[in-house]
Amino acid sequence: MRARAPLRMVPLLILVLLPATFASKVSSARAPLVAGRPGPASAGTGPVNNPCKESAYTFDGSKWHRTFRWSFSAGTRPSGLRAKAVELALRRAASNVARSRNSCGLTDHVGATQAYQGRTRARPDIRDDSTCGKPDGRSVVGFGKLVASELALTCFWTRNGRTVEADIKLNRSDYHWYVKKPSTCANKWSIAAVATHEFGHAFGLNHVSEVTDGALTMSPLILSCQQQEVTLGLGDVRGLRALY
Ligand SMILES: [Zn+2]
Repeated sequence: MRARAPLRMVPLLILVLLPATFASKVSSARAPLVAGRPGPASAGTGPVNNPCKESAYTFDGSKWHRTFRWSFSAGTRPSGLRAKAVELALRRAASNVARSRNSCGLTDHVGATQAYQGRTRARPDIRDDSTCGKPDGRSVVGFGKLVASELALTCFWTRNGRTVEADIKLNRSDYHWYVKKPSTCANKWSIAAVATHEFGHAFGLNHVSEVTDGALTMSPLILSCQQQEVTLGLGDVRGLRALY
């Protein structure tokens, strides 16, 4: 964290978008999560759709060498949702990743740690056009505007290969959100499920193939009303174990 080390900014997916001249000091990457729509059922050799049989993982370049401390931008939450309820969903999401909570009976061998720092008036350093903003040294999770095709986005910044800040923004402008799944659920997304995916990015996991590993938390599409991403699958856990 010393002044001379350049701060690198790494959102997850789109390194190719970076102008070449950008590479010297600061770089940024992003990994948008896309809101999927159910496709037609496929016959034959489709995806296994069993999170305990899908083993793939990839890395996005984030790695915490200390506890990931983050705050909740409570004032940005969607109207109609209580701050306490959203806060609990986000805390569960962070813990899902750090404790590698999974549906496969795998014990937690992941050394990653996170600590919730409470509510903040600060906002995620992620712009409305889904580009990463200037880091303020404070990791913030909140809601706000993103480009309409993106459900949520994580930006992180590294120095000397160590992540120093990670911000998460959930798209409040174009999507509806729930904490508790409504009995008749349509066109709403689970905060806990989407945030678990984004915390996966913050801790260093990148996307896996939706086609071959679509049941994993780190697959890039999530359907409305889908809860599966809340618990990690085999590949998600393997990736975290490899990193931490
Ligand atoms: Zn993602």
